[in-house]
Amino acid sequence: MAQAEKVLKPRIYGNMPAVFLRKDGRFEIKLQITGGMLTPQQVQRVGEVASMYGSQVHLTMRQEVSILGVPEEHLEKALAELKEVGLRPGSAGMVFRNVVSCLGATYCFKAAAETITLAREIGNRFTGEKTPGPLKVGIGGCPFPCTRPQFNEIGLMGRVRPKIDLEKCTGCGKCVEVCKVGATKIVDGKAVIDYNKCVMCGRCVAVCPEAAKYSAEKGFIVFVGGRGSWPPHEGWTLCDMVPREEIMPLIERILQVYRDGAKPGMRMREFINSLGFEEFKRRVMG
Ligand code: SF4
Ligand code: SF4
Ligand code: SF4
Repeated sequence: MAQAEKVLKPRIYGNMPAVFLRKDGRFEIKLQITGGMLTPQQVQRVGEVASMYGSQVHLTMRQEVSILGVPEEHLEKALAELKEVGLRPGSAGMVFRNVVSCLGATYCFKAAAETITLAREIGNRFTGEKTPGPLKVGIGGCPFPCTRPQFNEIGLMGRVRPKIDLEKCTGCGKCVEVCKVGATKIVDGKAVIDYNKCVMCGRCVAVCPEAAKYSAEKGFIVFVGGRGSWPPHEGWTLCDMVPREEIMPLIERILQVYRDGAKPGMRMREFINSLGFEEFKRRVMG
């Protein structure tokens, strides 16, 4: 008679939700990689640990790195070797998750804001903290974001409000060429901005050879209550220009309102719907 197949059930290792059993009977170690940034030494160590104890390496949608195929008896050694280079299991379940970010102003010519330091600051402060439902943060350095921050529980999108110094403007038209939304044009030899169309990407500021266009204001749009999984929803716009230095206190307040009012398991979108967005905003913004 054929022997009954052993049925595997999902389980985590110890108290680490990001180290868990997979259907191949071995463990996955999902590492926290804030903003998707790794040092060369960390990349090397991931390869070494995967070669020694695991099978494959997977890049997740949320910029984490997963080592697959680790037998349970090798988990401790694998985790210790990863820890030596600052890599630790990340976030899963009802917690503040790994922070996703684009490269931002440090590397991207199109950026309106720095993002990597901000992602690390948020990740170091909040990732792993218990929340009523899974809480995901996405950061994009401009209003045409590669990282889709609108579809996260908290989304941040860098912006620059441009202004023109007409004395300096030569009417060269370079700012008109880069504007993707037709918000700037030349009138009587000088640039003008249509603020009803302008999405505040700051690209016209970056290309102006005369420094005639300048940043009158810099900051972030903050979205809340977005979600990427089915059914996908874009978040509400909580604020349309928050200065960098006010982002951390604002996240603290969003978290406090969410924790104070949401039932266990309630995602932020459902919580905001249950209150009404205006009431949620009132509680957060005071
Ligand atoms: S989101 Fe914007 S700033 Fe960030 S990498 Fe993409 S284009 Fe550059
Ligand atoms: S790029 Fe600068 S100088 Fe040229 S038209 Fe625009 S604002 Fe004027
Ligand atoms: S900041 Fe506004 S006007 Fe300038 S390029 Fe971007 S959308 Fe156009």
